[in-house]
Amino acid sequence: MSRSYLSLGSNLGNREENLTHAIRMLEDVEQIRVEKTSSIYQTEPVGYSNQPDFLNMVVRIDTELSPEQLLDETQKIESELGRVRALRFGPRTMDVDIILFENEKRKDEKLTIPHPRMWERAFVMIPLLEIFENTSNEVFECETVRLYSDIHSGSNRGKLSEKPENK
Ligand code: ADP
Ligand code: MG
Repeated sequence: MSRSYLSLGSNLGNREENLTHAIRMLEDVEQIRVEKTSSIYQTEPVGYSNQPDFLNMVVRIDTELSPEQLLDETQKIESELGRVRALRFGPRTMDVDIILFENEKRKDEKLTIPHPRMWERAFVMIPLLEIFENTSNEVFECETVRLYSDIHSGSNRGKLSEKPENK
């Protein structure tokens, strides 16, 4: 059994209903159990800004699928929810990204884990931290992500100084 975190986003149609629907479809997959869900956040679009606001959330799942099989399932959900892949970073009824999958690392165009843009996306990091906050013993991710958020909130924990110049 593997633990994975998925980011869900919708900015077309009934956005909240789309999120609920996607979660139900995840639960309907026999090898997936939805364990935790974050709050829903309304966020400004990133990249291509002339489009409606998104609703975003993160869910934690347990799954017996491999990362590649999980991607197949999440893409099925995206297309069943009517996503039109017209424009990269454009509007979509449902975007499901695999953020983390245990300690797995992948670097294919088809599948990169951890998700390469998660660190710069508040709409991923904030709901992810919310799930970590409410869970003890999520040690590895928690430490990494908390350190990251300490650094970026300007707290005095985390990075001590800028990288020294190479002499
Ligand atoms: P984004 O989610 O970055 O806004 P898309 O959803 O349009 O962009 O991404 C499309 C492609 O990204 C998919 O065809 C998929 O194969 C690839 N991809 C690579 N890594 C991942 C990942 N971790 N989760 C989901 N899709 C991924
Ligand atoms: Mg995606």
